[in-house]
Amino acid sequence: MPARSCWQPGKTPNTTDLGLEHVGINVDQKYAIPVSPALQTMQPHVYAVGDVTNLPKRLETTAGKERTLAVENALTGSAKSIDYDAVPSTVFTDPQLAGVGLTEAEQMQRLGISACRTISFEGVPRMGVHILALHAASWSLKR
Ligand SMILES: Cc1cc2nc3c(=O)[nH]c(=O)nc-3n(C[C@H](O)[C@H](O)[C@H](O)COP(=O)(O)OP(=O)(O)OC[C@H]3O[C@@H](n4cnc5c(N)ncnc54)[C@H](O)[C@@H]3O)c2cc1C
Repeated sequence: MPARSCWQPGKTPNTTDLGLEHVGINVDQKYAIPVSPALQTMQPHVYAVGDVTNLPKRLETTAGKERTLAVENALTGSAKSIDYDAVPSTVFTDPQLAGVGLTEAEQMQRLGISACRTISFEGVPRMGVHILALHAASWSLKR
């Protein structure tokens, strides 16, 4: 079998020329704007969403939801946030990889214990699912 490689370049938030330092907002070591779960920056009246933040997912869907919640929080004083553990994601490899919930490694890191095992779909009401299969993206959307 020929050698194969997977290139995952990553993304750096484009924050250097925004002048954030002039309004008292710092970026972290990855140039991301730290925000609270309610999407507030270090200046609580300034909200940030999407790829410029240090939030755990960088997706179109989460960026859109964050925008909606940030506006609602800013206008109503609410503190709504996203449960990122419940956000499904897909890697468009062949076969595709789709998942939702914690991986075994993440669960071990957070809880120090994991009871991962292979079971049928019918027995998976609320747990994490990670699929490596043809059209895995569609599987994650159907459930
Ligand atoms: C190759 C690729 C494939 C992707 N595929 C998927 C996918 O299949 N599904 C998915 O959910 N997500 C995908 N993403 C991620 C998704 O595109 C981003 O997470 C999402 O667009 C983030 O939205 P945003 O509004 O934060 O940033 P953006 O959509 O990047 O919008 C930022 C906007 O700000 C503008 N801007 C930048 N700097 C300045 C400045 N200094 N002043 C004024 N304006 C500025 C930019 O021009 C841009 O219009 C993909 C990303 C890439 C790069």
